Amino acid sequence: MRAVKMSPVIEVLKQGRHFAVIAHVSPDGDVIGSCLALANFLWDQGKTVDLYCDDAPPENLAFLQGIQNFIKPGEKIETKENFTYDAVVCLDCSDEGRLGDAAYLLKRASCTINIDHHATNTMYADINIVEPGASSTAELVFELIREMDEDYFSMPVYEAIYSGIATDTGGFGFSNTTPAAHRIAAQLIEYGLNVDKLTRLLFRNTTLPRVRLLAKALASLEMHCNDRVAFLTVSKAMLEEIGLEENHTDGIVNYGIDIVGVECAALFKEAEQGKTKVSLRTKGTVDASVLAAKFGGGGHVRAAGCLISAGIEKAKEQVLEALKAMLE
Ligand code: 5GP
Ligand code: MN
Repeated sequence: MRAVKMSPVIEVLKQGRHFAVIAHVSPDGDVIGSCLALANFLWDQGKTVDLYCDDAPPENLAFLQGIQNFIKPGEKIETKENFTYDAVVCLDCSDEGRLGDAAYLLKRASCTINIDHHATNTMYADINIVEPGASSTAELVFELIREMDEDYFSMPVYEAIYSGIATDTGGFGFSNTTPAAHRIAAQLIEYGLNVDKLTRLLFRNTTLPRVRLLAKALASLEMHCNDRVAFLTVSKAMLEEIGLEENHTDGIVNYGIDIVGVECAALFKEAEQGKTKVSLRTKGTVDASVLAAKFGGGGHVRAAGCLISAGIEKAKEQVLEALKAMLE
């Protein structure tokens, strides 16, 4: 079924020579793994690929081949007058807002391609491959690569695919863990992928400052709605006190949703220009993507996010109000 839908993308990638691949802002393992798998594959076909991301990739992904090639939007293309890519490929980006400053690249392309697994995807490209049933975008990229060349073998590409699937499924534990995700993982292990090495690099590879940040975030825990709602906070002051420059807070919100009886957990992270980034996790009746959409965000039923144009305390009030109505 999906194989048929991939064919317009395959056509464009086979015909074209110069591509841009764009990762979403606040990149995670799925988007970085997907972008690097596709980029390495295309490089191996002799194509040129510019990799764009507004924000720095998480440090734990530094081992992925080609990760140093990510550039910030605007760093390159201005030097080439009237340059257009044969295609711009957006991966794991549910809407144009997720592209950040890279959104202007959509206008510098003969063809735009959107490959994603978010049900909230707005179908903003010329070719849209959106499969909410897929565990991850990396799963879709794997299928695309297999269909383009079934004999292709590259361990760096397999490591990137595995990183995307493993991180987006929480180590094959979240509700988006599909038989297909396991089948691909099984296939990659058959090819010789070192699961032990990747698990260590992806999940068991923290730093002292990050553990100190976790301690502060846990100390910020607030419970609401008869302990059905857990709020956690990461402020700029916390990062400064610890001396952490990076702002990767992956996994912290899970401490809230893991509490027995909690149906929605939110991590409020102080962002630029007085805004607040909210990470949402749910179990039970609340659909996280519906809650996030109320604030212009999106995501999945069990994991979603949004950026609220207010400080942390105001953002908490707004989310709590919306949640109260949804928990009725
Ligand atoms: P996380 O909380 O891990 O950053 O994100 C959880 C999920 O929500 C991911 O699938 C992510 O793509 C999505 N998400 C997070 N923030 C936003 C946002 O501001 N807008 C949209 N549309 N999706 C988001
Ligand atoms: Mn994803």
